[in-house]
Amino acid sequence: MKLIKLIANLGYGSRKDVTQLFRSGRITDADGEELYADDVVPYETIRVDDEPLDPPPGLTLMMNKPLGVTCSRKDPGRVVYDLLPPRYNVRSPALSSVGRLDRDTSGLLLFTDDGALLHRIISPKAQVTKVYEATLAQDLRGDEGELFASGSLLLESETEPLAPAALEVLGPRHARLSVTEGRYHQVRRMFAATGNHVETLQRVSIGALALGALPLGEWRALDADEIASIF
Ligand code: URA
Repeated sequence: MKLIKLIANLGYGSRKDVTQLFRSGRITDADGEELYADDVVPYETIRVDDEPLDPPPGLTLMMNKPLGVTCSRKDPGRVVYDLLPPRYNVRSPALSSVGRLDRDTSGLLLFTDDGALLHRIISPKAQVTKVYEATLAQDLRGDEGELFASGSLLLESETEPLAPAALEVLGPRHARLSVTEGRYHQVRRMFAATGNHVETLQRVSIGALALGALPLGEWRALDADEIASIF
């Protein structure tokens, strides 16, 4: 791909803007030598204003989503995309969140510009395990684990029972729940079906990829091994 198109697709501006960047000598190699639009050079040597280029297409990120932000670009108010560098929101191909978390849910949220990867992660066939930690308004009854594992729990207004899910009790009002589906408000509705109410909800892992010590509101790019660990 021509350098102009490559750099424009990364969100540095229109092709006209990027042409101007070349003309003003702001695009160089690692030694500060000016590059020209027709040059063919290794990606990692390209600099814009002495800074390495943003990561190439094929970018997958993890974020520790804070509370109070939503996952759709169309939502009013603050959205998760506002927490990414502005250039990441005008890249082509576009970065999208992999599924969604509610405004009131925090934790592990993935983004990718790889449509095939996105569909692979959210496909029910892939059975990727998502693990959530919930604090509850009332003490657990004691039979929730059996009910969630049964594969026969029918959520209100649905016709298909939920796939079996695993509950680990961490305290009287504190539980870890592992699910393989991604139905609307699934975890909140599962506890609601037992007469309880989720007070706080955090997603802590997707497959073997854990949130770890990533601070709230921060994000980082994933490497190939981390992406593979999702499946
Ligand atoms: N289940 C929910 O209820 N909310 C989320 O954000 C994710 C899973």
